[in-house]
Amino acid sequence: RAKADGRGRWTEFDASMHERVRDRVEIELALRHALTSGQLRLAYQPIVELSTGRLVGAEALIRWTHPTRGPISPTAFIPIAEDSGLISAIGRWALDQTVRQLSIWRRGKLVAEDFWISVNVSPRQLRDAGLPGILADTLTKWNVPNTGVVLEITESVMIDASSVTDQVLFDLRRLGVKIVVDDFGTGFSALGYLRRHPVTGVKIDRSFVDGLGTDAEDEEIVRAVVAMSAALKLTVVAEGVETPTQQNVLSALGVVVGQGHLWSAPVKPQEFTERWLTLEESIPDPEN
Ligand code: C2E
Ligand code: MG
Ligand code: MG
Ligand code: MG
Repeated sequence: RAKADGRGRWTEFDASMHERVRDRVEIELALRHALTSGQLRLAYQPIVELSTGRLVGAEALIRWTHPTRGPISPTAFIPIAEDSGLISAIGRWALDQTVRQLSIWRRGKLVAEDFWISVNVSPRQLRDAGLPGILADTLTKWNVPNTGVVLEITESVMIDASSVTDQVLFDLRRLGVKIVVDDFGTGFSALGYLRRHPVTGVKIDRSFVDGLGTDAEDEEIVRAVVAMSAALKLTVVAEGVETPTQQNVLSALGVVVGQGHLWSAPVKPQEFTERWLTLEESIPDPEN
């Protein structure tokens, strides 16, 4: 695994087993504190229509800035949050923040009626039978339609789905919330898994987007995912779009929506508002 950033020693690299264990314990303690002391924030990455660049949604991505160690990548602390059970509280916080943010943007008429925000949900959260109820209450509290939230799950959830997880997914879907499979293609899920679970879409992993324009195999994989999604009536989003070539190849292959550094990295809510929501064409007036 590549080093996410050069900061600190809180990475999984070059550390002895002993150091790694100590780091995990330290991170867990610090994370517990981070949640209650406002060190966690959500950044938002625009999701756009590939052919026009028009904003259609956003993905909420968690950010942790430690007061002395600086930014810590979610790829380093989310697994620890999962193992320790902290993910339940963090996940609830992230859902509440997301819905609140959407409510603010909607009330200010800064986003279209059908603008959505997707939130990453970890397998452990989906084993909590209370999740659908909590989400329903959150949506009611902030007066946001259920269709405004998309949950991103991992392929592993479908593969080792327990009966609780199955019920939770079903209840979420019945609530009207959309469910997409993140990093699609990196796990081992087959068509059958997609059919058996109430998912509404897939997000093509950026490892397949990477080689578009240079790697014929990546192109074939994306082509296959598009065909499969059409057959199963699933939506498709491409992640990690960095170049105009990738954008064009994706469009040519029939992928309509994507996100990536070509448009923007995840940014703070205020920057998102300034850069994406203050153009005239993005202020719809539902009365007219
Ligand atoms: P993910 O959900 O697959 O998110 C996409 C990751 O790709 C994000 O990394 C994003 O910043 C990055 N990315 C976006 N566009 C580009 C691009 O054009 N090129 C490249 N190279 N990268 C791009 P990030 O923010 O570090 O998050 C990493 C992972 O951590 C996420 O992967 C997700 O699995 C997890 N995560 C983040 N926030 C949350 C959260 O609130 N809850 C849970 N359970 N997991 C989270
Ligand atoms: Mg995601
Ligand atoms: Mg992803
Ligand atoms: Mg990913």
